[in-house]
Amino acid sequence: MKIAVIGGGITGLTTALALQEAGCAVTIFSRDPFEKTTSYAAGAISYPYAVEDSTRAQVWYAQNDEMLMSLMDDPAAGIFWAHWKKCTLDPYFEIPEMYMRLRDARVITGDDCPLGYKKGVQAKLLVMHVGRYYPFLKQRFERAGGTFYLREIKNFGELEKDFDLIVNATGVHARYFAQDEAVYPMRGQVVIIKNPGVNFHFATFEGKNYFYPRIDEILIGGSAEIGEWDLTPNDVLTRDMLAWAKTVDPLLKNPEIINVRVGLRPMRPQIRVERDEHSCAVPVVHNYGQGGAGYTVAWGCAFAARDLVLGTAA
Ligand SMILES: Cc1cc2nc3c(=O)[nH]c(=O)nc-3n(C[C@H](O)[C@H](O)[C@H](O)COP(=O)(O)OP(=O)(O)OC[C@H]3O[C@@H](n4cnc5c(N)ncnc54)[C@H](O)[C@@H]3O)c2cc1C
Repeated sequence: MKIAVIGGGITGLTTALALQEAGCAVTIFSRDPFEKTTSYAAGAISYPYAVEDSTRAQVWYAQNDEMLMSLMDDPAAGIFWAHWKKCTLDPYFEIPEMYMRLRDARVITGDDCPLGYKKGVQAKLLVMHVGRYYPFLKQRFERAGGTFYLREIKNFGELEKDFDLIVNATGVHARYFAQDEAVYPMRGQVVIIKNPGVNFHFATFEGKNYFYPRIDEILIGGSAEIGEWDLTPNDVLTRDMLAWAKTVDPLLKNPEIINVRVGLRPMRPQIRVERDEHSCAVPVVHNYGQGGAGYTVAWGCAFAARDLVLGTAA
């Protein structure tokens, strides 16, 4: 089967790999270089933030973690365990039950919390170093004979003569590409600095602030602007993120900025993993709408899309 995947973010790439491993010949078309996609901006911890809350999403999350654990033996994959803490300034805060379901979750207080914070939860989460994980997967795809073109596709019909089936993994751009008004952006901005030696992952219950070290660098966030498409970095946000980070860890006092990244989380009430026989002369399988959890559910969604392609979905 000859398959075209439209979209070269984490969703398109993992779907392409799942199809390739099932024996399909796969070509990816991406309008943008990786550095201009949402997938490039991600913190990429395995954690279901801003995504549909459902049994199938839980299954996809578990399948993804299982895949990450099978890949992490190879250091080139850039996958590692993190002791993640999410804390509050309020000593009486009740930690929501969902956090206690995370791996090795426990409530922390006092000195186990960073400077000024009173209570929180600590859990063990998988983290992907985007700058290593994405190239690792892409190399695997290309070594197995996959082709990756930087090319904008105007409509599904453009590919129907050359392929047996098309996968639509255009992320938030599906709003216009697949005329789907249910998908909309939630803009997120992060600043990447050199890691001065911070070795714990930290987020707050109060706002959107977090920092996630990734070996050599540290990603400081964050923001969540609903309906906002502007990819221009906002300097005020950058300044505020850096100012917050240094109040938590003195090591972050003199940040050496590498870059500022902005991405558009593809929000949708439900992730769209669906086969569609009507958009052009060949079937289309849609796979988009993973919100703030594209790296968390990527493999699960890729397997579901693969089953729809092969006609083996339950
Ligand atoms: C600041 C931030 C932090 C995040 N942190 C996390 C996290 O910790 N954990 C987590 O799991 N997720 C996180 N996310 C969410 C995650 O990044 C997204 O869910 C994920 O990247 C979506 O991937 P995607 O491949 O669907 O879309 P994208 O990465 O947007 O890729 C879309 C692709 O479609 C292509 N495309 C679009 N239209 C066309 C066309 N017409 N022709 C050809 N190609 C086209 C684009 O060029 C691109 O290659 C974060 C997001 C942000 C912004």
